[in-house]
Amino acid sequence: MTDAERRIALEQIANEVRACTRCRLHEQRTRAVPGEGNPDTEVVFVGEGPGFNEDREGRPFVGRAGALLVRLLASIGWRRDDVFITNVVKCRPPDNRDPEADEIAACAPFLRRQLAVLDPALVVTLGRHSMGTFMPGARISQSHGTMKPASPDTGAASALAFAMYHPAAALRTPEV
Ligand code: URA
Repeated sequence: MTDAERRIALEQIANEVRACTRCRLHEQRTRAVPGEGNPDTEVVFVGEGPGFNEDREGRPFVGRAGALLVRLLASIGWRRDDVFITNVVKCRPPDNRDPEADEIAACAPFLRRQLAVLDPALVVTLGRHSMGTFMPGARISQSHGTMKPASPDTGAASALAFAMYHPAAALRTPEV
């Protein structure tokens, strides 16, 4: 796929996400948050779900956790536009609660299609809900900082999954 074809395919998925009513999370959203970034990247970051600021802007990781993520990227010389950033659920769970299993399952086809288009070499999971998609059964306390081949049914057929704590966890507990 060319860069232009990837861009079009990702925009098509984003439009479907914006119109989605597959689970209860659409009921209270202000804006869905499909994800964004460089269609030609080898690295995709997958968080849990939009928070307050993301829901208002329709963009992922634009609040405090996002600012830390951007700072961490800058520390290795990367900008957020160099990578692709998305979430396992594309609409904000009420009061920022954890996404539920049926909500993650309802949204999974969007993530799978995004990953199939991007075909990354690396998927960085941010937090345990994202890790659970790519490394089923793993525990964040043991698996953070480790890599495993992502299971092909995630759409990221040739990627390694690298588990990280969620930046919001790092804001709460700087040791992690
Ligand atoms: N936390 C997430 O997991 N995703 C976002 O987009 C923002 C905060």
